Amino acid sequence: MVAQTRKKRRVSRRQILRTGAAALGGSAAFLAGAPSPHAQNVQAPGVLTGTQTGRTFRGLVRHSNTLDVQEMRLLPIDSRQVVIRSEAVAPCYTIVRGALGTNTISRAEVPNHCGFGVVEAVGAMVKRVQVGDRVVVAGTSQCGQCYQCLHGRPDYCQFTFFSNAPGVEPFPPFAEMRDGTSVYAQAGIGGMSEVMTAFEEYCVPVFSNLPAAELTLLGDQLASGFAAGHADMHFQPGSDVVVFGCGPVGLGAIQAGRVTGAGQVIAIDPIKYRRDFALKMGATIALDPVAEGDGLVERVRELCRGPNDRRFAGGVGWGRAGNAVMARGADYVVEAAGLQAVPPKVEAQPDPTNVKTVQQAWDCTRMGGHVMLMGFTLQPVSFPGASLALFGRTIHPGQQGGLHVMRDIPRYVKLIERGVIDAKSVITKRYTLAESRQAVQDTADRTIITGVIEFT
Ligand SMILES: [Zn+2]
Ligand SMILES: [Zn+2]
Repeated sequence: MVAQTRKKRRVSRRQILRTGAAALGGSAAFLAGAPSPHAQNVQAPGVLTGTQTGRTFRGLVRHSNTLDVQEMRLLPIDSRQVVIRSEAVAPCYTIVRGALGTNTISRAEVPNHCGFGVVEAVGAMVKRVQVGDRVVVAGTSQCGQCYQCLHGRPDYCQFTFFSNAPGVEPFPPFAEMRDGTSVYAQAGIGGMSEVMTAFEEYCVPVFSNLPAAELTLLGDQLASGFAAGHADMHFQPGSDVVVFGCGPVGLGAIQAGRVTGAGQVIAIDPIKYRRDFALKMGATIALDPVAEGDGLVERVRELCRGPNDRRFAGGVGWGRAGNAVMARGADYVVEAAGLQAVPPKVEAQPDPTNVKTVQQAWDCTRMGGHVMLMGFTLQPVSFPGASLALFGRTIHPGQQGGLHVMRDIPRYVKLIERGVIDAKSVITKRYTLAESRQAVQDTADRTIITGVIEFT
């Protein structure tokens, strides 16, 4: 059996070398231990240029008034872009309304903003990754050179938001459909296609044999939620942690609470199966915001009250006036609920706009505590001016949970390898590319935690 395997490998490698630079990626990935080298050979293109212009592949495309799988042809890449053969991708909830919309759009687009795969070609100026590298394509770039990166905030790397500048089109179409329609990658990244192109600033090479389905979660949801507690707010052991929303992001924050040894992790979600799931992932208690109603904040404060109200014995203030009231609440609160983009097929949020949830998250935070606002809220949110000025609460902005992709993703890979972060369990459904539209629909319906599309 061993000899047979070796023989297969020798044949495989010769074939790869014969097919030229494009397939070399498959070879290097194979040597690095990627799980399915033979599938790579099957997929490896024929004679192509060094940048693989003209290569055909399939992907989910939002075009005209529909969303379906289309065959595409790769366009030339930029000198700092990378061609990646996708292995797995998890659609993010933030894309569902746009992707499933039936309005006619002028620009065809591959949805999503993260992915995972093997580098198969690089532009002439690319330095960070090489052909054959397995790479997480993250939702946030880290260029290392912009003002934000140089001031310690690569989670706000200016390259990430480059595409939003008015009149600027930094991300040209990366492919075209059979009828010649140009296809863009959403946010310059996309992800739900057999081939991605990405600027190297978004690519994080990872040197691990972990399954692609788990590693792809480090490009967005799981890594963002975990970073909120681990890399940004720095949960302290024994502290009180509250997480609003037990979806793929909130469960990352709940795991951070477990990993850092929080005294308690209070999970809040209207969906029963998600509350049950949160308890398995490290939450110590799970609350239903619908059942708690207007008493939710008071319930959380009571849970964080501590064993006594003796101020001189270190008890958390328990009075009803002044400083004692402000002192009550959790040390760390993560708002990862976000707005309800479309009606779910499970329990609905008590406030679909998420405004009330953001205010509750603020109110649950103790004086001097920390609150991170991760979920999208499109309406204005107001807070009492006096509490903003005097309560000493620190608001952490939730852009990928403060994730510094080049610093944090490699160490989260190690934590998954060691079994400290559980990535496998949060994948509750797997799909093929042909089923990818359904993956987006299930994400919108909230009937799954995380769906992963695997490219074979
Ligand atoms: Zn996302
Ligand atoms: Zn930067």
